[in-house]
Amino acid sequence: MLAYTYKDRGVFELTEKPKPELIDTKDAIVRVTMSSICTSDLHIKHGSVPKAVKGITVGHEMVGVVEETGVDVKNVKAGDRVTVNVETFCGECFFCKNGFVNNCKDKNGGWALGCRIDGGQTEYVRVPYANQGLNKIPDSVSDEQALFVGDILATGFWAAKISEIKKDDTVLIIGAGPAGICTLLCVMLKNPEKIIVCEQDETRRDFVKKHYPNVIVVSPENCIETVNLESKNGGADVVIEVAGSEKSFQTAWQAARANAVVTIVALYDKPVVLPLPDMYGKNLIFKTGGVDGCDCQEILSLIEQGKIDTTPLITHKFPLKDIEHAYEIFENKLENVIKIAIVN
Ligand SMILES: [Zn+2]
Ligand SMILES: [Zn+2]
Repeated sequence: MLAYTYKDRGVFELTEKPKPELIDTKDAIVRVTMSSICTSDLHIKHGSVPKAVKGITVGHEMVGVVEETGVDVKNVKAGDRVTVNVETFCGECFFCKNGFVNNCKDKNGGWALGCRIDGGQTEYVRVPYANQGLNKIPDSVSDEQALFVGDILATGFWAAKISEIKKDDTVLIIGAGPAGICTLLCVMLKNPEKIIVCEQDETRRDFVKKHYPNVIVVSPENCIETVNLESKNGGADVVIEVAGSEKSFQTAWQAARANAVVTIVALYDKPVVLPLPDMYGKNLIFKTGGVDGCDCQEILSLIEQGKIDTTPLITHKFPLKDIEHAYEIFENKLENVIKIAIVN
């Protein structure tokens, strides 16, 4: 089968690999019907994910059909359409039992697929702990609708969930890339009084304005001024930072009111400065990133009810054989790309 493979720093290549087989009784083999390219794949390519193992198949956002299951897999069976969770988790350790599945103590716990073990930009994938890692897609939900459930939508859902959003809050979301928009969709479900989205790219600002007309959209230059104007207590009640630059991190804490929750979802390429002397007395509550992706069934149910729709994010579709070209477009943000679906 064809598999898009992490060869070396800066080099991904479409190679031939044998079809995966069950190794453990809790494994499942999934025939990938659709996968996607995520910014984290680019982080692997550029060497900013030290845990990434050379030779693995990349890709951690995918949906498919269960082909085969180990004897201990009870939640899904051959023939089921499923979402695949970006995170592998045992369901039994201290962290899993407390919902902190990103920190599962298993050797493959956390983000393993497409990073430390073979992932989904291919035709078949082996999913460990399939009882936790796979969720059945309702019949009325398409592959396109379910594609982001296991990764960026889980991330947005988790970010909205931990940010303690209340009805009369002004919520600032920094970054309207794919994960930022997924966060926005999940924040909208919390019905805060105002949502402000800050984004530097004009095309992405226009995308948000067009699809979500009730959201206030600003550029980084006008962000803090607008937030102060639109909030009652001198800053946003909740800030969710999804952009991931040194500057966006500074904007995040500066735009927050005193005692606000600042949730950091972004994955930074390098260290950022937390200027404690400058923020002294602001009494901020920081929550930092690494999705606990254990709400996928609930997210699928919200999609089924029509409460979340991420299909407008899919701006491009390519067959697996053209994945090289798809990466070129995604990496260089050509043709107003937001997300690319790789269709098998
Ligand atoms: Zn991802
Ligand atoms: Zn665990």
